[in-house]
Amino acid sequence: MTDGPSLTKGGPEQPLVAYFSMEIGIDPGMPTYAGGLGVLAGDTIRSAADLDIPMVAVTLLHRRGYFYQRLDEQGWQREEPVAWPINDFCHPLSQHVTVEIENRTVRVGAWQIRVRGETGGEVPVYLLDTDLPDNEPWDRTLTDMLYGGDDRYRLCQEVVLGFGGYRLLRALGYNHIRRFHLNEGHAALLVLALLEEKLASRSTEEQVPADLIDAVREQCVFTTHTPVPAGHDQFPQDLARRVLGDRRCLWLDACLQDQSLNMTRLALRGSRFVNGVAMKHGEVSTSLFPGYPIHSITNGVHAVTWAAPSFQLLFDRRLPDWRRDQLSLRYAIGIPVQEIWEAHAVAKQALIDYVNREANAGFDRDVLTIGCARRATAYKRSTLIFHDVDRLVSIAERAGPLQLVFAGKAHPRDHEGKQMIRRIHEMRQTLRDKIGVVYLPNYDITLARLLCAGSDVWLNTPLPPTEASGTSGMKAAINGVPSLSVLDGWWIEGHAEDVTGWSIGNREPGKELDQDLDAVHAAELYRKLDEKILPLFYGERDHFLEIMRHAIALNGGFFNTQRMVLQYLHKAYRLTGDYARRG
Ligand SMILES: *Cc1c(COP(=O)(O)O)cnc(C)c1O
Repeated sequence: MTDGPSLTKGGPEQPLVAYFSMEIGIDPGMPTYAGGLGVLAGDTIRSAADLDIPMVAVTLLHRRGYFYQRLDEQGWQREEPVAWPINDFCHPLSQHVTVEIENRTVRVGAWQIRVRGETGGEVPVYLLDTDLPDNEPWDRTLTDMLYGGDDRYRLCQEVVLGFGGYRLLRALGYNHIRRFHLNEGHAALLVLALLEEKLASRSTEEQVPADLIDAVREQCVFTTHTPVPAGHDQFPQDLARRVLGDRRCLWLDACLQDQSLNMTRLALRGSRFVNGVAMKHGEVSTSLFPGYPIHSITNGVHAVTWAAPSFQLLFDRRLPDWRRDQLSLRYAIGIPVQEIWEAHAVAKQALIDYVNREANAGFDRDVLTIGCARRATAYKRSTLIFHDVDRLVSIAERAGPLQLVFAGKAHPRDHEGKQMIRRIHEMRQTLRDKIGVVYLPNYDITLARLLCAGSDVWLNTPLPPTEASGTSGMKAAINGVPSLSVLDGWWIEGHAEDVTGWSIGNREPGKELDQDLDAVHAAELYRKLDEKILPLFYGERDHFLEIMRHAIALNGGFFNTQRMVLQYLHKAYRLTGDYARRG
């Protein structure tokens, strides 16, 4: 391989979209992501490569990953750093650029990996790296840990991503980029990097002319990913001043009329198109940030990545175009249900074997298996199914046996999240001989593939409206696994009762708000299990299979990143002119 983008078709003059993300799940062997945001970024890039969209992506290297999650005897999470063989995946570049951090000059290098699509398209991804001998020891650690360290560490990382990423693209000769896509607020300093370049061509450095901000806006597209206020990066004014310096704080002032640094506001101010990640999330974000029109482009998943091997074979046989054209999953409606059941049985066996091998759980392949994997944090409410343990046990005794498999990491500083993991872990003992319960450690892409495809029902119980979209239920749907979920995020769009799965709670929770929402939702969860899901699974298998088939045809056919990337292309990037003229 050679340096730079020269091997991509057309060279660096070609890419028109630069996608910036703090985390990207590029390969299951690269721990360069923490969870949903990074997996979505990876799926986006894979679909862009499939569609041969002229895109380049930028992220940080994360030499020590997010963390490896170990669970001790009591179910308490221990975090361990991950070492991964960078050279096995990425190619080092000789180009370096510099960024100013706290009045120091920090050198930034990069590694490259190419993501190849189904039909020969390619998206180069650059992973920024400050572990260079010229840098001070602390600066060398800046691209080590994803979401590690304190505010100062995080802000410095965001300088590396926004300024370092932009300068690297320039150094590599990417001079024709028309749109910069900020995937979440972490990338917002890109707005200042673009502004800086435009300012350099004017004599004035003190005043920021409004037309320059408009020119930056013309180039940027911003996707916001969480309706939870704590999820939006914010830095105190004195820290911003220390890290960025007076000059860049002046620009901030011009953009925000406020020298404290709210990354979401900066990205909103600097972008021509802003979107939330599901219909409802777009609405919630509009009310969080009045004054900005916020659109919705609902997330998806990369179908080929998330279809289990047995479903890949089935689709290859029955829907031969599905790898190139994910709309053809709609025609799963014509696949005989028995073939879906057979493909599912293979995926389920793989999960059951894993659970029994790793957790010695004695799971039975004929028992209804419910999967639930989420970041372990309070508002995701993964313990909701244990709200009334006696009721759950009596349902299993009367309507049919149950097995529950959980996974998910807690952020290292989220004590409550860690308590939730421990509580679920304890349920294994509490419910022994009555209901099988396991908490599998170290939820990652490889485990998500097994879990989403191998469960019979995918459970999701967040406190609405905190789920921006959710994507694991989409991974399940591709594999014919219906969801039992609170009506929030994508499920508002994907749910058709008894057709694609089952709801918990109302679409507009207004009526429920004065009640104990946990109790209301738990009662409905139990009722659906008792009256619908268990009787169907054990007594009306053909009806259950019909629901599995609809999950693929109705939801797999829509909630995929091929549809999502095309929506970005048409609604957000709007490059149709250049794109069509290309080549
Ligand atoms: C898909 C995925 C997520 C996100 O799932 P949600 O349903 O959006 O919470 C998180 N982690 C991993 C490893 C995943 O594969």
